[in-house]
Amino acid sequence: MTVEERDLKYIWHPCSQMKDYETFPPIPIERGEGVYLYGIDGKRYLDVISSWWCNLLGHCHPRINAAITDQLSRLEHVIFANLTHLPAVELCERLAEVVPRGLEKFNFSDNGSASVECALKMAFQYMHQTGRPRKTRFMCLSDGYHGETIGALSVGTLDLYAKIYKPMLMDVVRIPAPDCYRCPFGLTREECGCPCFKEAERCFEQYAEETCAVIVEPLLQGSAGMRIYPPLYLKKLRALCDCSDVLLIADEIATGFGRTGKMFACDHAGITPDIMCLSKGLTGGYLPMALTVTTQAVFDAFYADYNEGKAFMHSHTYSGNPLGCRAALAVQDILRGDKILEQAAETAPRLTALLNEALGSHPNVGEIRHIGLIHAIELTADKRTKAPFPSEKRIGYRIYRRVVEKGLLLRPLGNVLYFNPPLVIDENQCEEAVALAREAVCEELPSGG
Ligand code: PLP
Repeated sequence: MTVEERDLKYIWHPCSQMKDYETFPPIPIERGEGVYLYGIDGKRYLDVISSWWCNLLGHCHPRINAAITDQLSRLEHVIFANLTHLPAVELCERLAEVVPRGLEKFNFSDNGSASVECALKMAFQYMHQTGRPRKTRFMCLSDGYHGETIGALSVGTLDLYAKIYKPMLMDVVRIPAPDCYRCPFGLTREECGCPCFKEAERCFEQYAEETCAVIVEPLLQGSAGMRIYPPLYLKKLRALCDCSDVLLIADEIATGFGRTGKMFACDHAGITPDIMCLSKGLTGGYLPMALTVTTQAVFDAFYADYNEGKAFMHSHTYSGNPLGCRAALAVQDILRGDKILEQAAETAPRLTALLNEALGSHPNVGEIRHIGLIHAIELTADKRTKAPFPSEKRIGYRIYRRVVEKGLLLRPLGNVLYFNPPLVIDENQCEEAVALAREAVCEELPSGG
């Protein structure tokens, strides 16, 4: 049996209709190096999706490998309740220097969804323990995504992931999100004063009294199709939270660590959330680790004599795993030492230019938008009306199949193709990626399909 056949005999892959694998089986990957992955047949794939948005500095980075290997010979894991270790302490010291000012306490978990669950529970408990027990609901933006566990799904609003589970989910308040490509006010991002923020104000007026927190993906709604909205919206939301006694949770799981051109998306707006969720790039995409970072004020609401019952009684077996901490420390060293954000800032406009040149005038390309190195190509059935392709056409998936065969790992989100490459991708690799993407789009949609 081939590896593919042996895989399909037992494995249920994530976020997949397994029947699709009958005609497009999983690709066995043997090794990775930099921005490239290599199949067991030797075929090379350029990974411009950072292996689910987590690989920050390339595959098998020698310094991250060395850090993990060194840690492996000392301590692989230890319970993190009552015990601690230097890698965790040093990591938090380092992160405290780069997170938005005012975030000071770090709670470890082991994946993005778990860090969102922590944030939601913290916000709920914070209000309870500071004399506002009626504040029990959450607000979120429509089309948001925060993970797949029940709490995280409740505050995510993409039907694709949540619809079937609705009877199990919390009743949350959904604020209609900014949609800058299809702006109902006919504005562009550059001239926008965020008139759509009125929707947030309306929701806060009606529900703030019963709400403990609002959760957002700052500036970039990734799973919604890399939808980008202006920093002004985030600034206004911070101000509204302040005057409405509602905590602001920034889910920076996808946007953190330079993805948007600054260390955190919140930095574009110059704001500090009350709670911030981090994962993915935290360990460079090596090991599952997440953090829920809070202000001192949030932390203080839990700090009391044991018998007052105010502790945050939440744990995960692999919280604070030393291997993950060492990987994350190496990532911080490399980000700073190798001036990675500065490098990515030079590559990003080149990628923008290449994509505009290659696909800007294609009849089915409605918009090419970008923030940092993240670039999204919105495919439309009709460029003038911005009408989307019907989802049953699976345009994105069809292009994905073509492009993977050409040696480019470019996973679509519905009608949106996106590039979210490791920050170390260089100009030649961008050229290679754009040329392959163009070929696949033009083959699938030869004359506006
Ligand atoms: N939040 C955001 C913004 C994400 O993009 C993701 C994953 O893509 C998550 C949360 C969930 O993270 P995980 O897949 O590690 O549970």
